[in-house]
Amino acid sequence: MAAEAIVHQPEGSDAWLRVWRDIVKRAMPGIFIYPIFWAVIAASSGFHKLHPALSWSVVAALTGISIVRLINAIYLTRVQPEKRQVWQGLFWFGILAHSGIYGSMFALSLLSGNAQFSLLMAFSGAGIVAGGVNSFSPSRNLAYAYAIVFLSPGIVVALWSQDLWVEAGFIVTYLFYMWNLVRQQNAEYWVSLNNERTLALQSRTDSLTTLNNRRYFDEKLKELCHLSSRDHMNLSILVLDCDFFKAVNDKYGHDFGDECLRQVANVLTTNLPRATDVCARYGGEEFSIILAGTDLQGAQLVAEKIRNKIEKMEIKYKNITTKVTISVGLVSVRLDNFEVGLPERLFKYADEALYLAKEQGRNRVVCSVASTALQAGKVKTASL
Ligand code: GH3
Ligand code: MG
Ligand code: MG
Repeated sequence: MAAEAIVHQPEGSDAWLRVWRDIVKRAMPGIFIYPIFWAVIAASSGFHKLHPALSWSVVAALTGISIVRLINAIYLTRVQPEKRQVWQGLFWFGILAHSGIYGSMFALSLLSGNAQFSLLMAFSGAGIVAGGVNSFSPSRNLAYAYAIVFLSPGIVVALWSQDLWVEAGFIVTYLFYMWNLVRQQNAEYWVSLNNERTLALQSRTDSLTTLNNRRYFDEKLKELCHLSSRDHMNLSILVLDCDFFKAVNDKYGHDFGDECLRQVANVLTTNLPRATDVCARYGGEEFSIILAGTDLQGAQLVAEKIRNKIEKMEIKYKNITTKVTISVGLVSVRLDNFEVGLPERLFKYADEALYLAKEQGRNRVVCSVASTALQAGKVKTASL
Protein backbone atom coordinates (compact mmCIF):
# COMPACT_ATOMS: atom_id res chain seq x y z
CA MET A 1 0.00 0.00 0.00
CA ALA A 2 1.59 3.27 -1.11
CA ALA A 3 1.76 5.84 1.67
CA GLU A 4 1.50 8.66 -0.92
CA ALA A 5 -1.98 7.51 -1.87
CA ILE A 6 -3.33 8.04 1.63
CA VAL A 7 -5.47 11.10 2.15
CA HIS A 8 -4.88 12.48 5.63
CA GLN A 9 -7.69 14.84 6.50
CA PRO A 10 -6.38 18.19 7.73
CA GLU A 11 -6.03 18.79 11.47
CA GLY A 12 -9.17 20.42 12.83
CA SER A 13 -11.50 18.86 10.24
CA ASP A 14 -14.45 16.84 11.51
CA ALA A 15 -12.59 13.66 10.56
CA TRP A 16 -9.97 14.56 13.12
CA LEU A 17 -12.47 14.62 15.96
CA ARG A 18 -13.21 11.02 15.09
CA VAL A 19 -9.47 10.29 14.90
CA TRP A 20 -8.90 11.75 18.35
CA ARG A 21 -11.81 9.77 19.75
CA ASP A 22 -10.16 6.62 18.40
CA ILE A 23 -6.73 7.53 19.76
CA VAL A 24 -8.11 8.39 23.21
CA LYS A 25 -10.04 5.11 23.35
CA ARG A 26 -7.05 3.07 22.20
CA ALA A 27 -4.76 4.83 24.70
CA MET A 28 -6.99 4.03 27.69
CA PRO A 29 -5.30 0.76 28.84
CA GLY A 30 -1.87 2.43 28.75
CA ILE A 31 -2.96 4.87 31.42
CA PHE A 32 -3.07 2.05 33.98
CA ILE A 33 -0.32 -0.17 32.63
CA TYR A 34 2.68 2.09 33.37
CA PRO A 35 2.35 2.49 37.16
CA ILE A 36 1.12 -1.10 37.67
CA PHE A 37 3.88 -2.73 35.60
CA TRP A 38 6.55 -0.60 37.21
CA ALA A 39 5.36 -1.27 40.78
CA VAL A 40 5.15 -5.04 40.18
CA ILE A 41 8.55 -5.26 38.46
CA ALA A 42 10.36 -3.04 40.98
CA ALA A 43 8.88 -5.02 43.89
CA SER A 44 9.26 -8.54 42.46
CA SER A 45 12.85 -8.09 41.25
CA GLY A 46 14.04 -6.56 44.52
CA PHE A 47 14.98 -3.30 42.79
CA HIS A 48 12.88 -1.29 45.28
CA LYS A 49 14.94 -2.59 48.21
CA LEU A 50 18.17 -1.26 46.73
CA HIS A 51 16.69 1.99 45.43
CA PRO A 52 13.57 2.73 47.49
CA ALA A 53 13.54 6.50 46.91
CA LEU A 54 13.89 6.13 43.15
CA SER A 55 11.30 3.34 43.03
CA TRP A 56 8.73 5.34 44.95
CA SER A 57 9.44 8.52 42.99
CA VAL A 58 8.83 6.66 39.73
CA VAL A 59 5.60 5.14 41.11
CA ALA A 60 4.46 8.63 42.14
CA ALA A 61 5.44 10.22 38.81
CA LEU A 62 3.79 7.48 36.70
CA THR A 63 0.63 7.56 38.84
CA GLY A 64 0.45 11.37 38.70
CA ILE A 65 0.75 11.31 34.91
CA SER A 66 -1.90 8.57 34.78
CA ILE A 67 -4.31 10.81 36.69
CA VAL A 68 -3.62 13.73 34.34
CA ARG A 69 -4.08 11.42 31.34
CA LEU A 70 -7.34 10.06 32.74
CA ILE A 71 -8.80 13.55 33.17
CA ASN A 72 -7.49 14.46 29.73
CA ALA A 73 -9.06 11.36 28.16
CA ILE A 74 -12.46 12.23 29.63
CA TYR A 75 -12.49 15.82 28.39
CA LEU A 76 -10.31 15.88 25.26
CA THR A 77 -13.08 15.21 22.74
CA ARG A 78 -15.73 17.14 24.67
CA VAL A 79 -14.11 20.55 24.99
CA GLN A 80 -14.93 23.44 22.65
CA PRO A 81 -13.01 23.20 19.33
CA GLU A 82 -10.93 26.31 20.15
CA LYS A 83 -9.66 24.67 23.36
CA ARG A 84 -8.95 21.33 21.74
CA GLN A 85 -5.41 22.30 20.75
CA VAL A 86 -4.42 22.73 24.42
CA TRP A 87 -5.95 19.40 25.41
CA GLN A 88 -4.26 17.66 22.52
CA GLY A 89 -0.97 19.18 23.68
CA LEU A 90 -1.61 17.83 27.16
CA PHE A 91 -2.37 14.42 25.65
CA TRP A 92 0.99 14.42 23.88
CA PHE A 93 2.70 15.49 27.09
CA GLY A 94 1.09 12.63 29.09
CA ILE A 95 2.00 10.01 26.50
CA LEU A 96 5.59 11.20 26.08
CA ALA A 97 6.11 11.67 29.83
CA HIS A 98 5.00 8.09 30.51
CA SER A 99 7.15 6.68 27.73
CA GLY A 100 10.15 8.85 28.66
CA ILE A 101 10.09 7.75 32.31
CA TYR A 102 9.47 4.07 31.56
CA GLY A 103 12.08 4.15 28.76
CA SER A 104 14.60 5.70 31.17
CA MET A 105 13.94 2.97 33.74
CA PHE A 106 14.44 0.39 31.00
CA ALA A 107 17.77 2.07 30.17
CA LEU A 108 18.72 1.97 33.85
CA SER A 109 17.82 -1.71 34.01
CA LEU A 110 20.51 -2.40 31.37
CA LEU A 111 23.14 -1.18 33.84
CA SER A 112 21.56 -2.49 37.04
CA GLY A 113 23.27 -5.88 37.11
CA ASN A 114 19.94 -7.32 38.30
CA ALA A 115 19.13 -9.96 35.65
CA GLN A 116 15.48 -10.38 36.65
CA PHE A 117 14.89 -6.64 36.73
CA SER A 118 16.42 -6.05 33.29
CA LEU A 119 14.64 -9.05 31.77
CA LEU A 120 11.23 -7.93 33.06
CA MET A 121 11.84 -4.33 31.98
CA ALA A 122 12.90 -5.50 28.49
CA PHE A 123 9.85 -7.74 28.10
CA SER A 124 7.37 -5.21 29.45
CA GLY A 125 9.01 -2.35 27.51
CA ALA A 126 8.81 -4.21 24.19
CA GLY A 127 5.17 -5.06 24.83
CA ILE A 128 4.23 -1.55 25.89
CA VAL A 129 5.97 0.08 22.91
CA ALA A 130 4.29 -2.27 20.43
CA GLY A 131 0.90 -1.66 22.04
CA GLY A 132 1.44 2.10 22.14
CA VAL A 133 2.58 2.28 18.51
CA ASN A 134 -0.52 0.37 17.51
CA SER A 135 -2.76 2.64 19.62
CA PHE A 136 -1.34 5.94 18.39
CA SER A 137 -0.91 4.91 14.76
CA PRO A 138 -3.85 7.10 13.55
CA SER A 139 -1.46 10.02 14.21
CA ARG A 140 1.84 9.13 12.59
CA ASN A 141 3.80 11.89 14.34
CA LEU A 142 2.54 10.92 17.77
CA ALA A 143 3.37 7.24 17.21
CA TYR A 144 6.86 8.05 15.89
CA ALA A 145 7.58 10.45 18.75
CA TYR A 146 6.33 7.90 21.27
CA ALA A 147 8.58 5.09 20.00
CA ILE A 148 11.63 7.37 19.80
CA VAL A 149 11.16 8.83 23.29
CA PHE A 150 10.62 5.36 24.76
CA LEU A 151 13.60 3.65 23.12
CA SER A 152 16.18 6.46 22.90
CA PRO A 153 17.35 6.30 26.55
CA GLY A 154 18.06 2.57 26.13
CA ILE A 155 20.01 3.17 22.90
CA VAL A 156 22.04 6.00 24.44
CA VAL A 157 22.87 4.04 27.61
CA ALA A 158 23.75 0.87 25.68
CA LEU A 159 26.08 2.76 23.32
CA TRP A 160 27.60 4.82 26.14
CA SER A 161 28.39 1.80 28.32
CA GLN A 162 30.44 0.33 25.44
CA ASP A 163 30.00 -3.33 26.38
CA LEU A 164 26.31 -3.42 25.44
CA TRP A 165 26.70 -3.27 21.64
CA VAL A 166 24.43 -6.24 21.07
CA GLU A 167 21.70 -4.67 23.22
CA ALA A 168 22.13 -1.35 21.39
CA GLY A 169 21.79 -3.17 18.06
CA PHE A 170 18.64 -4.94 19.24
CA ILE A 171 16.97 -1.74 20.43
CA VAL A 172 17.85 0.16 17.23
CA THR A 173 16.48 -2.72 15.13
CA TYR A 174 13.37 -2.78 17.26
CA LEU A 175 12.92 0.99 16.72
CA PHE A 176 13.10 0.51 12.94
CA TYR A 177 10.60 -2.32 13.22
CA MET A 178 8.25 -0.05 15.18
CA TRP A 179 8.80 2.75 12.63
CA ASN A 180 7.71 0.45 9.85
CA LEU A 181 4.72 -0.72 11.88
CA VAL A 182 3.60 2.90 12.37
CA ARG A 183 3.77 3.53 8.61
CA GLN A 184 1.74 0.44 7.79
CA GLN A 185 -0.85 0.83 10.54
CA ASN A 186 -1.29 4.53 9.81
CA ALA A 187 -1.86 3.84 6.10
CA GLU A 188 -4.37 1.09 6.85
CA TYR A 189 -6.22 3.25 9.38
CA TRP A 190 -6.64 6.19 7.00
CA VAL A 191 -7.63 4.04 4.03
CA SER A 192 -10.36 2.42 6.07
CA LEU A 193 -11.46 5.72 7.63
CA ASN A 194 -11.69 7.40 4.22
CA ASN A 195 -13.60 4.42 2.81
CA GLU A 196 -16.00 4.54 5.71
CA ARG A 197 -16.59 8.26 5.22
CA THR A 198 -17.10 7.83 1.48
CA LEU A 199 -19.63 5.06 2.05
CA ALA A 200 -21.44 7.11 4.71
CA LEU A 201 -21.64 10.04 2.29
CA GLN A 202 -22.85 7.82 -0.54
CA SER A 203 -25.55 6.30 1.65
CA ARG A 204 -27.04 9.74 2.28
CA THR A 205 -26.56 11.23 -1.19
CA ASP A 206 -28.72 11.13 -4.29
CA SER A 207 -26.39 10.16 -7.11
CA LEU A 208 -28.17 12.09 -9.87
CA THR A 209 -28.35 15.50 -8.21
CA THR A 210 -25.83 15.07 -5.36
CA LEU A 211 -28.50 16.42 -3.01
CA ASN A 212 -29.29 14.51 0.17
CA ASN A 213 -31.50 11.50 -0.35
CA ARG A 214 -34.84 10.61 1.20
CA ARG A 215 -33.35 8.51 3.98
CA TYR A 216 -31.21 11.41 5.18
CA PHE A 217 -34.14 13.83 4.86
CA ASP A 218 -36.37 11.62 7.02
CA GLU A 219 -33.66 11.30 9.68
CA LYS A 220 -33.01 15.04 9.66
CA LEU A 221 -36.71 15.86 9.85
CA LYS A 222 -37.09 13.74 12.94
CA GLU A 223 -34.03 15.28 14.55
CA LEU A 224 -35.11 18.85 13.76
CA CYS A 225 -38.65 18.18 15.01
CA HIS A 226 -37.11 17.10 18.32
CA LEU A 227 -34.84 20.14 18.51
CA SER A 228 -37.54 22.61 17.48
CA SER A 229 -40.00 21.12 19.99
CA ARG A 230 -37.45 21.42 22.78
CA ASP A 231 -36.61 25.03 21.91
CA HIS A 232 -40.19 26.06 20.97
CA MET A 233 -39.04 27.02 17.50
CA ASN A 234 -40.65 27.39 14.10
CA LEU A 235 -40.15 24.65 11.57
CA SER A 236 -41.16 24.81 7.92
CA ILE A 237 -41.30 22.01 5.39
CA LEU A 238 -41.52 22.48 1.62
CA VAL A 239 -42.38 19.71 -0.81
CA LEU A 240 -41.65 20.63 -4.43
CA ASP A 241 -42.67 18.70 -7.53
CA CYS A 242 -41.84 19.40 -11.17
CA ASP A 243 -44.95 20.08 -13.23
CA PHE A 244 -45.84 17.81 -16.16
CA PHE A 245 -42.45 16.22 -15.99
CA LYS A 246 -43.55 13.10 -17.73
CA ALA A 247 -44.23 15.24 -20.80
CA VAL A 248 -40.67 16.68 -20.61
CA ASN A 249 -39.25 13.17 -20.60
CA ASP A 250 -41.54 12.04 -23.38
CA LYS A 251 -40.72 15.03 -25.57
CA TYR A 252 -36.95 15.40 -25.02
CA GLY A 253 -35.84 12.07 -23.64
CA HIS A 254 -34.75 10.78 -20.25
CA ASP A 255 -31.26 12.29 -20.49
CA PHE A 256 -32.69 15.73 -20.86
CA GLY A 257 -35.09 15.01 -17.99
CA ASP A 258 -32.12 14.08 -15.81
CA GLU A 259 -30.37 17.33 -16.72
CA CYS A 260 -33.52 19.28 -15.79
CA LEU A 261 -33.52 17.61 -12.37
CA ARG A 262 -29.85 18.51 -11.86
CA GLN A 263 -30.48 22.15 -12.76
CA VAL A 264 -33.56 22.37 -10.56
CA ALA A 265 -31.52 20.88 -7.71
CA ASN A 266 -28.88 23.53 -8.29
CA VAL A 267 -31.45 26.31 -7.96
CA LEU A 268 -32.59 24.82 -4.66
CA THR A 269 -29.13 24.61 -3.12
CA THR A 270 -28.04 28.05 -4.29
CA ASN A 271 -31.15 29.62 -2.78
CA LEU A 272 -30.82 28.06 0.67
CA PRO A 273 -27.99 29.96 2.31
CA ARG A 274 -28.51 28.84 5.91
CA ALA A 275 -26.29 26.01 7.11
CA THR A 276 -29.26 24.51 8.96
CA ASP A 277 -31.46 24.28 5.84
CA VAL A 278 -31.87 20.72 4.62
CA CYS A 279 -32.58 19.99 0.97
CA ALA A 280 -33.17 16.56 -0.52
CA ARG A 281 -34.38 14.78 -3.61
CA TYR A 282 -37.28 12.94 -2.10
CA GLY A 283 -37.83 10.73 -5.11
CA GLY A 284 -38.41 10.98 -8.88
CA GLU A 285 -39.01 14.64 -9.73
CA GLU A 286 -39.94 15.56 -6.17
CA PHE A 287 -37.77 17.54 -3.78
CA SER A 288 -38.14 18.44 -0.11
CA ILE A 289 -36.73 21.16 2.10
CA ILE A 290 -36.65 21.74 5.86
CA LEU A 291 -36.22 25.29 7.07
CA ALA A 292 -35.54 25.10 10.80
CA GLY A 293 -36.23 28.31 12.72
CA THR A 294 -38.19 29.81 9.81
CA ASP A 295 -41.77 31.01 10.22
CA LEU A 296 -44.62 30.88 7.69
CA GLN A 297 -43.80 34.26 6.17
CA GLY A 298 -40.11 33.41 5.75
CA ALA A 299 -40.88 30.00 4.30
CA GLN A 300 -43.35 31.50 1.82
CA LEU A 301 -40.69 33.97 0.68
CA VAL A 302 -38.16 31.16 0.15
CA ALA A 303 -40.68 28.98 -1.67
CA GLU A 304 -41.84 31.83 -3.91
CA LYS A 305 -38.25 32.81 -4.71
CA ILE A 306 -37.35 29.25 -5.72
CA ARG A 307 -40.52 28.81 -7.74
CA ASN A 308 -39.88 32.10 -9.53
CA LYS A 309 -36.23 31.31 -10.31
CA ILE A 310 -37.11 27.89 -11.73
CA GLU A 311 -39.91 29.39 -13.84
CA LYS A 312 -37.48 31.90 -15.32
CA MET A 313 -34.60 29.47 -15.79
CA GLU A 314 -33.84 28.32 -19.33
CA ILE A 315 -32.67 24.71 -19.30
CA LYS A 316 -30.18 24.13 -22.09
CA TYR A 317 -28.76 20.72 -22.95
CA LYS A 318 -27.47 19.37 -26.23
CA ASN A 319 -29.14 21.98 -28.50
CA ILE A 320 -32.42 21.74 -26.62
CA THR A 321 -33.70 24.67 -24.59
CA THR A 322 -36.84 24.55 -22.51
CA LYS A 323 -38.38 25.69 -19.27
CA VAL A 324 -39.95 23.82 -16.37
CA THR A 325 -42.13 24.92 -13.49
CA ILE A 326 -42.63 23.52 -10.03
CA SER A 327 -45.49 23.38 -7.58
CA VAL A 328 -44.78 23.74 -3.89
CA GLY A 329 -46.67 22.55 -0.83
CA LEU A 330 -45.66 24.16 2.43
CA VAL A 331 -46.32 23.70 6.10
CA SER A 332 -44.97 25.96 8.81
CA VAL A 333 -45.50 25.35 12.51
CA ARG A 334 -44.23 26.43 15.86
CA LEU A 335 -43.48 23.27 17.79
CA ASP A 336 -43.95 22.99 21.51
CA ASN A 337 -43.84 19.30 22.17
CA PHE A 338 -42.67 16.27 20.27
CA GLU A 339 -44.93 13.30 19.83
CA VAL A 340 -44.53 10.07 17.95
CA GLY A 341 -45.57 10.48 14.32
CA LEU A 342 -45.13 14.28 14.31
CA PRO A 343 -42.53 14.38 11.48
CA GLU A 344 -44.63 12.12 9.26
CA ARG A 345 -47.77 14.16 9.95
CA LEU A 346 -46.06 17.46 9.17
CA PHE A 347 -44.71 16.04 5.92
CA LYS A 348 -48.20 14.81 5.04
CA TYR A 349 -49.58 18.34 5.49
CA ALA A 350 -46.97 19.74 3.11
CA ASP A 351 -47.71 16.94 0.64
CA GLU A 352 -51.45 17.64 0.81
CA ALA A 353 -50.72 21.32 0.15
CA LEU A 354 -48.68 20.26 -2.89
CA TYR A 355 -51.64 18.27 -4.13
CA LEU A 356 -53.80 21.41 -3.83
CA ALA A 357 -51.17 23.42 -5.74
CA LYS A 358 -51.41 20.87 -8.57
CA GLU A 359 -55.20 21.03 -8.47
CA GLN A 360 -55.23 24.80 -8.52
CA GLY A 361 -53.26 24.91 -11.77
CA ARG A 362 -49.58 24.15 -10.84
CA ASN A 363 -46.59 26.55 -10.82
CA ARG A 364 -47.63 27.95 -7.45
CA VAL A 365 -46.99 27.79 -3.72
CA VAL A 366 -49.79 26.56 -1.50
CA CYS A 367 -49.63 26.69 2.24
CA SER A 368 -51.18 23.97 4.38
CA VAL A 369 -54.20 25.10 6.40
CA ALA A 370 -52.47 23.57 9.40
CA SER A 371 -49.85 26.35 9.15
CA THR A 372 -52.31 29.22 9.15
CA ALA A 373 -54.36 27.73 11.95
CA LEU A 374 -51.24 27.22 14.01
CA GLN A 375 -49.77 30.62 13.30
CA ALA A 376 -53.07 32.21 14.36
CA GLY A 377 -52.87 30.20 17.56
CA LYS A 378 -56.13 28.42 16.83
CA VAL A 379 -54.70 24.92 16.83
CA LYS A 380 -52.09 23.43 19.14
CA THR A 381 -49.35 21.24 17.72
CA ALA A 382 -50.76 18.32 19.65
CA SER A 383 -54.06 18.45 17.83
CA LEU A 384 -52.55 18.71 14.38
P1 GH3 B 1 -47.52 16.59 -12.29
O1 GH3 B 1 -47.49 18.00 -12.72
O2 GH3 B 1 -48.89 16.17 -11.90
O3 GH3 B 1 -46.54 16.30 -11.24
O4 GH3 B 1 -47.16 15.74 -13.57
P2 GH3 B 1 -45.90 14.83 -13.78
O5 GH3 B 1 -45.89 14.41 -15.21
O6 GH3 B 1 -44.69 15.51 -13.30
O7 GH3 B 1 -46.19 13.66 -12.79
P3 GH3 B 1 -46.07 12.12 -12.89
O8 GH3 B 1 -46.00 11.62 -11.51
O9 GH3 B 1 -47.16 11.57 -13.77
O10 GH3 B 1 -44.69 11.85 -13.61
C1 GH3 B 1 -43.50 12.05 -13.00
C2 GH3 B 1 -42.47 11.77 -14.04
O11 GH3 B 1 -41.16 12.09 -13.57
C3 GH3 B 1 -42.42 10.32 -14.40
C4 GH3 B 1 -40.99 10.08 -14.78
O12 GH3 B 1 -40.86 9.98 -16.17
C5 GH3 B 1 -40.27 11.33 -14.32
N1 GH3 B 1 -39.13 10.98 -13.51
C6 GH3 B 1 -39.11 10.51 -12.26
N2 GH3 B 1 -37.83 10.29 -11.87
C7 GH3 B 1 -37.04 10.64 -12.89
C8 GH3 B 1 -35.63 10.63 -13.10
O13 GH3 B 1 -34.82 10.26 -12.26
N3 GH3 B 1 -35.18 11.06 -14.31
C9 GH3 B 1 -36.04 11.49 -15.29
N4 GH3 B 1 -35.52 11.91 -16.41
N5 GH3 B 1 -37.33 11.49 -15.10
C10 GH3 B 1 -37.86 11.08 -13.94
MG1 MG C 1 -44.52 16.05 -11.24
MG1 MG D 1 -44.13 13.58 -8.59
